[in-house]
Amino acid sequence: MTFSTEQWRNHFESLINSSDDFVAIATPNGKMVFVNEAGKEMVSLPGDLDIKETLFTDFVTAHGSLAYSEELDHIFAGQDWKGIGWLKNWANNKVFPVQVTSLVLTDPLHDQPIALATIRRDLREIHAAKLESDRLRLHDPLTGLSGRSQFENKLDDSIARSITNRRYASVFFVDVDRFHEINASLGHFVADGLLAQVANRLTNSAVGARAVSRFGGDEFLILMENLADQTQAEEIASRLISAFDEPFPIENNDVYVSISIGVCFGNTNASQMISLADQAVYQAKSRGRARYEIVEATLSAQIADDHVSKYRELHLAIDRGELFTLFQPIVRLDDKKIVAAEALVRWMRPNHGIVPPLEFIQLAESTGLISRIGELVLKSACSLIKTLNDHGISLKIAINVSQLQLVDPNFALIVTTELTRYEISPGQLTLEVTESVAMDDIETIGRTIALLKEAGTLISIDDFGTGYSSVRTLRHLPFDTLKIDREFVSAVDEQGNDYAVVRAIIAMANALGLSIVAEGVETADQQDSLVQLGCPYAQGFLYSHPISEGELVSILTFDNLDDLEQSPGLL
Ligand code: C2E
Ligand code: MG
Ligand code: MG
Repeated sequence: MTFSTEQWRNHFESLINSSDDFVAIATPNGKMVFVNEAGKEMVSLPGDLDIKETLFTDFVTAHGSLAYSEELDHIFAGQDWKGIGWLKNWANNKVFPVQVTSLVLTDPLHDQPIALATIRRDLREIHAAKLESDRLRLHDPLTGLSGRSQFENKLDDSIARSITNRRYASVFFVDVDRFHEINASLGHFVADGLLAQVANRLTNSAVGARAVSRFGGDEFLILMENLADQTQAEEIASRLISAFDEPFPIENNDVYVSISIGVCFGNTNASQMISLADQAVYQAKSRGRARYEIVEATLSAQIADDHVSKYRELHLAIDRGELFTLFQPIVRLDDKKIVAAEALVRWMRPNHGIVPPLEFIQLAESTGLISRIGELVLKSACSLIKTLNDHGISLKIAINVSQLQLVDPNFALIVTTELTRYEISPGQLTLEVTESVAMDDIETIGRTIALLKEAGTLISIDDFGTGYSSVRTLRHLPFDTLKIDREFVSAVDEQGNDYAVVRAIIAMANALGLSIVAEGVETADQQDSLVQLGCPYAQGFLYSHPISEGELVSILTFDNLDDLEQSPGLL
């Protein structure tokens, strides 16, 4: 049986109309000709609107027709495109994320595009489900307790509060004695029930605890804050151990279980305190069971004093809103237009003036405060992107992320949550990463970066060429952009070794398909050499110092609008 063209058309139309996805067809220059029924419903298209009066871009761009969209860039150039995109809800003008397959249909005889087609799957439910599953993942289903990362966050806060109150935090690392024997004799199922009861008893006995978490297997963590002295920590440990004098009723039998505890007393930083408590519990076990060992987390007295007072000050500074973000433009060397900016944090310290990040980032990293600072900067970057988008300008903003943020299993979620909250496209955010001296947790970092890439953000390797960022990291992580460190740029105009090094870095980045930004360009001679070497983008005092959000917005809205519209590029 053969179909007439008309019959084929009807069959296809009913097939497409039965899909739950948004399916639409437009002419090659973007006039909409068809939207399926599910699609109309998905975007709440007004019933009286004639589709033929609308444009493809009315549906699919996130922020008005001026905003740069990688999808449109591709399909109007005759190339198919797949990725995460947007749809606009006509009822409230809000955009929501969709999985996109956009195709350019061509006339085989003349090799000319005859139509643009797009299939867009609503991702709102999937996104909500992911948030929920992440929430569940953070809680241990057996005991209902929170996991390690939440414990660490709370511990950081407790340390901060204890320091402020001139008191101490303590970590109690609890391990159930002979649990593997219990497991073997009672079986997994019963042993799991016992663990749930152990969790309960710990929660009930640890009066005043800030957190009780399951660390893994038969190990639990308890957090206390504002302790006056070490004796108080010892009393708590003894009390926890005696709470296990009472047996557990298991299948009509009384089962006796004891615990050993490693206590870390002091105010340094979360990961150090947990690992000291972990070592202490081993000692407790090796000296017999049902006992505790206590260690003090100390810094040398002089450093401790200094550290503690600076820590307290920085912590308060964050609470008081003394930290703010400046943005340094990144320009395209071809025409000197601003195509991106890097967010750089500053501390407005009363009676001291503006403190640059190098004076407090390290302290923030060693004390865990960097996560809070990172979130502040992330939010100001997202808010700037949103403000610019609302002006019809699509600019990429880069933020610096520290190793500590990358090993936090929640970090990717924190970033995607902000992107969704500000309704901005992930491709507008770049995360700058430097390799730290101890990039030993490359697996966790790789996982976080993979999640972020999957979400659509860009990743950049910062300060490339210094001891901290090297070729080794390039092998491991999927970067989009490489930033050449200022150290090499500063002498690039002298035609010596640095010129050769920059040339080699550019050749390597090109071979790896990375975009390149030269950092710290201060003179026209440096710029000329960079142009000669084919470096596409630059950042430095020659173009602009870091400036406030307001200044950047006004430069862009008054001077640069026409050019920005045409400024794609992988930054
Ligand atoms: P970076 O990421 O390499 O940032 C570039 C630094 O070079 C900035 O210093 C910027 O002001 C400076 N710079 C830019 N152009 C020139 C130039 O032409 N000449 C000279 N001499 N310097 C130039 P800043 O703002 O003091 O930041 C220093 C470092 O602190 C940053 O280096 C980054 O590693 C870190 N940092 C800044 N903000 C954050 C943040 O929010 N989070 C984290 N984790 N680190 C941050
Ligand atoms: Mg940077
Ligand atoms: Mg840098």
